[in-house]
Amino acid sequence: MLSQSKEETKVCLKCKETLVLEEYGKDKRQTDGLNRYCKPCHRENCAKARMNRSKPCVYQLFFTDGCTYIGSTIQNFSDRLAVHRAKVRTKIHTNRIFNRYEPEEISGRVLLELKDRKELRMNEYVLIKHFRESYGDKCLNQTDYTGIEREQTNVPSQGSK
Ligand SMILES: [Zn+2]
Repeated sequence: MLSQSKEETKVCLKCKETLVLEEYGKDKRQTDGLNRYCKPCHRENCAKARMNRSKPCVYQLFFTDGCTYIGSTIQNFSDRLAVHRAKVRTKIHTNRIFNRYEPEEISGRVLLELKDRKELRMNEYVLIKHFRESYGDKCLNQTDYTGIEREQTNVPSQGSK
C-alpha cells in the first residue's frame, strides 16, 4: 500500500507521465480509487469512445470465392463484420446466402464514412447499384434494394397461378 508520503504521485497509463494525484479523476473500480489515466488523457479517451460508438458507414464485404456484398451500418465496421462472422459461424445469418461461407472467408472494408446516418440509405443504394453492375452475379445483394427493415422480414414471394 502507498504510504501517505509528502507528494503522492501516479503514472498515467496513457501518457506515462508521473503526476500528482490531483491530476487524476475518481474511479471507484480502481483499488486506489483513482482513474488509471490522468484527466486530460481520460477526456481524450472519452471523446474517442464517443466517436467510435457511432460511425455510420457503407461497407463492402469480400468473400474468398470472389463474391462481394455491400451493406451499411451505424455501428463500427469492425463490430459489424464481427456480427456477420458470428452469424455465419452458427449458420443463422438472415441473409441465407452468407451461410455457405465460413467466418474466416469473409473480409471487408469501409467504402464510405458518413456524418449523418440519414444519408446512409441513399449512399448504400447508389453503391449497391454500382457494384451490381461491375460484379454481376458475384454481387450478393439482391436485385431489389433490401434495406435494414426488409432484411428482418421475408419478402413475400410472388405467388404465381
Ligand atoms: Zn495522461
